[in-house]
Amino acid sequence: MLYIDGSYGEGGGQILRSSLTLSLITGKSFEIRNIRVRRPKPGLRPQHLTCVQAAQKISKAQVEGDQIGSLYLRFSPGKVAPGRYRFKVGTAGATSLVFQTIALPLAHAGGAKVWLEGGTHVPYAPCYHYLALVYAPILKALGYPFHLELIRYGFYPRGAGEIKANILPYEACPETLVLKGPFVPQRVAVFSIVSSGLARHILDRQARKAVEVLEAVGLRPEVYGQRPKSPSPGTVVFVYAEDGPKRAGFFSLGRKGKPAERVGLEAAQALVSFMETKAAVDPFLTDQLLLPAAVRACTAYWESACLTRHFFTNLWVIKHFLPGVSIEVEGQEGGQGTVKIKGQGLDKRPTI
Ligand code: ATP
Repeated sequence: MLYIDGSYGEGGGQILRSSLTLSLITGKSFEIRNIRVRRPKPGLRPQHLTCVQAAQKISKAQVEGDQIGSLYLRFSPGKVAPGRYRFKVGTAGATSLVFQTIALPLAHAGGAKVWLEGGTHVPYAPCYHYLALVYAPILKALGYPFHLELIRYGFYPRGAGEIKANILPYEACPETLVLKGPFVPQRVAVFSIVSSGLARHILDRQARKAVEVLEAVGLRPEVYGQRPKSPSPGTVVFVYAEDGPKRAGFFSLGRKGKPAERVGLEAAQALVSFMETKAAVDPFLTDQLLLPAAVRACTAYWESACLTRHFFTNLWVIKHFLPGVSIEVEGQEGGQGTVKIKGQGLDKRPTI
């Protein structure tokens, strides 16, 4: 039994999610206290509870403390079973974070088809476009192929969006994955999305501003507009960039009273600021890459635009479950840095 202190570092939901994922992959049971105590509404919120329930269901785990608001959880996994699963967050909680919790264990177990209902474009989590266009290709490079499909957009506050994930069994990974800067986009795309109940001009204004900001630094973005139906009205701009195997993506959400131009500007400016760092990997992908790289039998090296507190907290959790992993980090919290991981190689022994 591993004992995890949920108040460590950032004290947020990632400590729980990474613990669930690694527990499912390694078969190690854990107990966590002080779940999300550093957040304004501590304990399990609907998104976190859905992650627990999903992890429980796919492995027939024994669980204690799985209630909304709980600061404590005890989790003893069984064997992860491939299959077809549906999970519902029930609010605008992020479907992407539920996906990331169970995707690798299911890939290790032989694959699965998963439907997830909840938020698809919500704050403080990867939006669907980030998951599909940034996270999935990099995970594919590490030998984890996923096919993702957006069935319905889910914006705050109702959520009620839906994504479908076809998680394939993991493949051999390369001996090394190296992502070095600078990030010089070979392709850039602007996605301007406005739900169908809102005015058409919002889509054009968001897109025009994003294009103006990108063109000012010499980029020539492709532009895609979409007016989907969704249970909650909402708007988003996602700016995507690729440079060889490297991917980056930034999004900004609209809301009542926020000018459409600001939505376009924020997403485009985030890419420009990232490019100015001359790093290879954005701050979000930096923390999301840690766990997959630590599990596989390869060496991964990347230059990060920012080593966040979230990153260091996640690293701490990973070391609990994978004592054999070698992680070398150069750089301080809040600054740029490099990460080199020699994974523990759990994939050498397939679980099926
Ligand atoms: P809490 O900490 O309140 O429990 P949480 O469980 O919803 O919140 P965090 O622990 O903050 O979430 O983790 C959020 C995850 O979402 C991190 O992996 C982070 O990299 C990712 N993320 C946040 N914002 C973005 C973004 N704009 N683009 C891509 N990924 C993002």
